[in-house]
Amino acid sequence: MTVRTRAALDSLPAYAPGRSVPGAIKLASNELSFPTLPAIADAIADAVAHETAGINRYPDIGAQALIRALAEHTGAPADHVIAGNGSVALCQQLVQATAGEGDEVVFGWRSFEAYPIVTQITGATAVRVPVTVGHELDLFAISEAVNSQTRLIFVCTPNNPTGTAIRRDDFAEFLDTIPQDVLVVIDEAYREFDVSPDSPDGLDFAVNRPNVVSLRTLSKAYGLAGLRVGYAVGAPEVITAMGKVAVPFSLNTLAQAAALAALAAKDDLAPRWKQVVGERDRVTAALREQGYEVPPSQANFVWLPLKERAVEFAAHCESLKVIVRAFADATGGVRVTIGSPEENDVFLTASGSYSR
Ligand code: PMP
Repeated sequence: MTVRTRAALDSLPAYAPGRSVPGAIKLASNELSFPTLPAIADAIADAVAHETAGINRYPDIGAQALIRALAEHTGAPADHVIAGNGSVALCQQLVQATAGEGDEVVFGWRSFEAYPIVTQITGATAVRVPVTVGHELDLFAISEAVNSQTRLIFVCTPNNPTGTAIRRDDFAEFLDTIPQDVLVVIDEAYREFDVSPDSPDGLDFAVNRPNVVSLRTLSKAYGLAGLRVGYAVGAPEVITAMGKVAVPFSLNTLAQAAALAALAAKDDLAPRWKQVVGERDRVTAALREQGYEVPPSQANFVWLPLKERAVEFAAHCESLKVIVRAFADATGGVRVTIGSPEENDVFLTASGSYSR
C-alpha cells in the first residue's frame, strides 16, 4: 500500500529551473551575470562570524532590521512590509492567505510558471488568461475572468517570460473594475530594468489601495538569487495574513545580512542595471535584424515566440554552449537572459546561425 497524498497534487507540474551546464554560458534564469560586490560578501562573512547572532543561532524571525531598511527603501510604513524566502515563497503565501478549495486565482498566460503551481498546491483553481497577439497582458480579459470565486489576481509586469510591461493608466483603470475584496498582486520582480515612463510603480498603488500588493525581489537586480530574499508591500491586514502562513525562520541569517548590504549598495548596483538595459536593447535590435519577432522587453531578458521550434532553437544554442530557456507548448517560446556583452555576443552568433 502506498501513502495517500493529496489528489490536487497529481496533476501538479514540477517547477522546471533554468539548467546549468558546465562550460556553457547560462542565460536561462534571469540572473545578473556580475560578481557579488565585496561589501555584500563581507556582510555575509561578518554574519557567519557574529559573536552573539552567528549561524549557530536561529535567524531573527521578524527580520526586523531588514524590514526597517525595506520600509525606508520603499517609502512604505514598516507594518506594510514583509520579507520572505524569495518572492516565489511570497507568491505561495499570498495564495495560501487568500484562496483554497473552490476558489480561483487569475493570471495572464504565459506568465511566471510558479503561479499555477502555488495555486494548485492550495487546492484552488488556476485561471489562465491568454496574452494578446503582441505578447502583452490583456488586463481587460483578466478583468472579465473575475467572478465570485476569484480571490487573487497576479499581474506580472514586466511579464515573465514575454518581457512586456503594462501601462500605469491601464492598471489604474483595471483596478477600478476589480472588486475590493479580491487581492491584486503586481509582481515587479524585474522592476529595476523597466525604464518606460508609462509603467506603473506598484508601490504607489500598494500603499494607497488596500487590495493591492507589490511584490519585489533581491534575486534579480540585487544579485542575490542564491540567497533567496523577496519582499511585499501592502495593507497591514494582508501582510499579517501572509506572515501567518510563512514557514517559520525561512528567511535565513545570511540572506538577511546580505539583503541589508545589497540595499545599502544600491548606488553601486544601479550602473549594472543600466548596462543590462543597454544590452537588452542591443540584443533586441540584433535579433530583429536577424529576422526574429521580439516583443519590446522592459526586463533583463528577451522573448522569442518560436512556438513549436522553441526546443530545437534551445538545443541549437546549447550545441554552441549557450543555455537558454525553452517553454515547449502551443504558447511556447524561448526566453533569453541578458548577460555580459561577451555572453550576449555568443548568443547572437548562435541565434544568427540557426536556420529556420
Ligand atoms: N516573480 C517573477 C515574475 C519571477 O520571474 C520570479 C523568478 N523567476 C519570481 C517572482 C521569484 O523570484 P525569487 O523567488 O527569486 O524572488
